[in-house]
Amino acid sequence: MSNLNRVPTLLTASFAVVISAISVMSTAQAKSVAEVIDAKDQVSILKSSNREFYDQAQENLTLRDGNDDYYVLYRIVERMARANRLDDRPWRVTVVPEYDINAFATNVNLLAFFNGLMDQIHGDPNALACVVGHEMAHHTEQHIALSAAQREMRLQELRQEAIDEVAAEEEDLSDDLQEMAAGEWIASGVGTIADRVVSTGGLGGLVGRVVSGQIRRDRQRRLEAAAERIQQIAAEKEAQFLAEETERSHSNEFEADEIGYQYMVRAGFDPQGCITVMEAISRIPGSQTAGITHPSTPDRIAALWSMSTTYPTASLRSEGDANIAANPNALTYGLSRDRMSLRIDSRSGSMDIDDLLPE
Ligand SMILES: [Zn+2]
Repeated sequence: MSNLNRVPTLLTASFAVVISAISVMSTAQAKSVAEVIDAKDQVSILKSSNREFYDQAQENLTLRDGNDDYYVLYRIVERMARANRLDDRPWRVTVVPEYDINAFATNVNLLAFFNGLMDQIHGDPNALACVVGHEMAHHTEQHIALSAAQREMRLQELRQEAIDEVAAEEEDLSDDLQEMAAGEWIASGVGTIADRVVSTGGLGGLVGRVVSGQIRRDRQRRLEAAAERIQQIAAEKEAQFLAEETERSHSNEFEADEIGYQYMVRAGFDPQGCITVMEAISRIPGSQTAGITHPSTPDRIAALWSMSTTYPTASLRSEGDANIAANPNALTYGLSRDRMSLRIDSRSGSMDIDDLLPE
């Protein structure tokens, strides 16, 4: 028995779960999706042609309200994978129910697209293909993006390192310095560590027990000076870290744009799609200037314009056509075991154990 006739059934049964799991859907909508799926014939369809297979996929993956995001994403990812020989691994696709104009690549081969992005480029598969290519490239190039929380954690470590460095030089002040920093300053970087020397009244508790008078005043001055040095060292470390992080992240973004561009053109999409996406992004406030994670949008657009010269469309297309010809069958799909994403199988991902071992 071939599993090909099982694919649509598997998906229709479980796609309702994907949809109801997506919390933004209203109960009414989720119910209507389930109804549609229940009402659907459990037709078995042999993959006699890709066209037939795609028609069935369209039926399975389109929601009752007409939302066909998952079908369109399936078609794009499936084509991009085969045209670029990236079909040796399964891909996973999810639409994040938040109105944000963004997408990201995360976990194992997962491509995530925000609702807002899907909405803003709705009906333009060339534009969506550009985003898909960009996110696929982050995976293939193994770009690792730090989350905001991870970046904050690194900054805290750097503040602690600054304290440790100064504390090692001023051994008799070490305990006081560690105690001063143990609070808000390490956690948030808000205020100055020198303020804490004053606000703790010269560390009366600790210092007051052992010293007094002139000695105490000297010690207070040394603590203040040490605190200032910590502040300065921490500021240098933070600035260096953020500069390195910005540089690394920007170069990853340019690289994902460049490789993603080639992926989408090889798959037969119109390069103009990349300009369309960037123009949609460039209308987001703040996109004109570079941030830590992303270069400025005008810089990305300028780089994209130069790509049609660097990578002639005709030669990319013929490479893609050759890859498709070598691997002509549509890739199958199913509900990922995370139950939250659509899995697009690798080219070897729809083998049936009974076909493989008939006896
Ligand atoms: Zn990116």
